[in-house]
Amino acid sequence: MTQLTRGAFALPGTSLDFKTGNWRSGEVPSHIHAKAPCHNACPAGEDQQAWLAHMQQGHAEAAWRELVSANPLPAITGRVCPHPCETACNRATTDGALAIHNIERWLGDEAIKHGWKYPVATPEADAPSVAIIGAGPAGLSAAWHCLRHELRPVIFEALPQAGGLLRSAIPATRLPRDVLNAELGRLLALEGITLNLSTRLGRDVTVDELRREHAAVILSPGCQAAWEWEVGGAVPSDLHEGLQLLKEFMDHGAFPEAKQVVVHGGGNTAIDICRLLKRAGAEKVTLVTASALPGPGVDPSDLINVVPRELDEALEEGIEIIEHATINRLIMRGSKATGVEIASLKKLKGTDGRRHRVTFEGTERVINVDMVVPCIGERVDPEGLETLLHGKAYFKPDSDSGKLGKANIYALGDARGDRGTVAAAIGDGRAAVASIVANLAGKGEPPADSRPVLPAELLNTAYFDTSQRTQAPKLPVSERGFDTEIEGDIGRAAAMAEAARCMSCGDCLACDNCWTMCPDSAVLKIQELAMDGSHYVFDLDYCKGCGICAAECPSGFIQMTAEA
Ligand SMILES: Cc1cc2nc3c(=O)[nH]c(=O)nc-3n(C[C@H](O)[C@H](O)[C@H](O)COP(=O)(O)OP(=O)(O)OC[C@H]3O[C@@H](n4cnc5c(N)ncnc54)[C@H](O)[C@@H]3O)c2cc1C
Ligand code: SF4
Ligand code: SF4
Repeated sequence: MTQLTRGAFALPGTSLDFKTGNWRSGEVPSHIHAKAPCHNACPAGEDQQAWLAHMQQGHAEAAWRELVSANPLPAITGRVCPHPCETACNRATTDGALAIHNIERWLGDEAIKHGWKYPVATPEADAPSVAIIGAGPAGLSAAWHCLRHELRPVIFEALPQAGGLLRSAIPATRLPRDVLNAELGRLLALEGITLNLSTRLGRDVTVDELRREHAAVILSPGCQAAWEWEVGGAVPSDLHEGLQLLKEFMDHGAFPEAKQVVVHGGGNTAIDICRLLKRAGAEKVTLVTASALPGPGVDPSDLINVVPRELDEALEEGIEIIEHATINRLIMRGSKATGVEIASLKKLKGTDGRRHRVTFEGTERVINVDMVVPCIGERVDPEGLETLLHGKAYFKPDSDSGKLGKANIYALGDARGDRGTVAAAIGDGRAAVASIVANLAGKGEPPADSRPVLPAELLNTAYFDTSQRTQAPKLPVSERGFDTEIEGDIGRAAAMAEAARCMSCGDCLACDNCWTMCPDSAVLKIQELAMDGSHYVFDLDYCKGCGICAAECPSGFIQMTAEA
């Protein structure tokens, strides 16, 4: 042991003799790979922090490859997803959530423009095959994840084209058909995917046949049967159910003529119909919805279930929305509706202890109409699926993976009744295939991701510059029609700048703060650089447990925990 005397200075290397770790306070630093809240909130299962890290290094193609490891359709979700990732983003607590969907869309478009290759190999000819019913986003995602896991997907689609509601319902002003065709075309051109178009389960194939011929069967038929509208008064002979009307418009490009329209519902179909009817020349379009518009104090479970920017645009375009209301009865002249009686709703506690919407007596009023469009939702068309639905409107799987009972049959997407977004359908495809792979390997269901979510309080935001969230260009209301996309592209410079705003919640930034700021040099670098922080280690012989590294870690990757 080196002898030190009072007033002397430490000779080089002598500080190593003081094992300052002996003084430790009882806490040690650890690297905690927490989930970023954006990742936790993304129904498709994307790890945004991981792909934004590639963007921050200037590697757009690597970012796209990371992104498509979860979601093969970023040009589509970047346009239509209600982006719950942004609502959850920790940057929302400082200067504005990251515009994740705009970057995602830019990456998807770049991949199409430059022909970036999907990172996947062709499965062996004798690899197990998986039958997939429906080529909507759920079925397409399942097919992609089958390829990633070296399985052979065989899709059966009732219609002559793939895409599901992406093609038959979502308007081109939100999802241009050239983008849709390009992204689906690239995916479906991958070797190993078999697509049988105009082939309907129940008419051309049966579940039993598919079970015999394939290692697993995935059911992703969406919801094709409209609910019957229960309303007082006779129903007009020319009543148009919302989704049907929308599909007819997609096919023929025209709506029945109407000047005053009331639409009843509170989802995407209702808002899309309202906006298209208005552009088609209706003078007054009113949405009557039981739900609430966003505002202070609104219970999230009451909120209208539409993409927030679509709601803003609908209001900009002059759609009138009557919230907390329902249609009591139709006022008819002969077989035509000329008015609707609406009434306000309030929520009262029922005998079951839950709050239910009931009509508020005395609030009845009449709105004149020449067309009324119910958009009250759809359920699974039971044809060919009777033995699996057991008379229910939707599939009720036994696990998150969508597995129905013990058989290797899975139900995904809208057909589960509690989904309703493209990203959720894509996430279902991923989860089902992970389960199929684990089951084929005899491992049972894959374990759930139990990592904690990183809260904003654990970030050190002093290390991040203030910056404004990117705003995408938008067509002015007067120029909005039926084909041109309303929201524009942000371009490369803005995509890169926006990605640079990511605070890497819960993952290492390789900023060296811990390494430079530890007063005891107890943070060592064992190699030059790693993306995941694995090149830093704590030398507990010298760590006093002071917590400076954790306090100075910008991204919350280091946390102090009680010493065992
Ligand atoms: C008007 C409208 C607007 C929307 N806007 C948005 C939006 O902005 N953002 C968002 O995230 N979500 C939106 N959605 C919801 C979204 O489109 C759905 O959640 C999503 O498409 C569900 O995907 P899926 O694959 O489960 O079903 P679908 O997209 O319905 O696809 C099911 C496929 O299965 C096929 N099929 C059905 N039965 C059979 C059978 N027996 N045999 C073979 N094939 C069969 C169908 O033809 C179809 O191609 C919107 C929906 C509507 C109606
Ligand atoms: S799919 Fe939706 S939730 Fe997921 S990253 Fe994209 S915009 Fe966000
Ligand atoms: S700052 Fe980045 S990692 Fe953190 S929540 Fe937002 S996008 Fe995700």
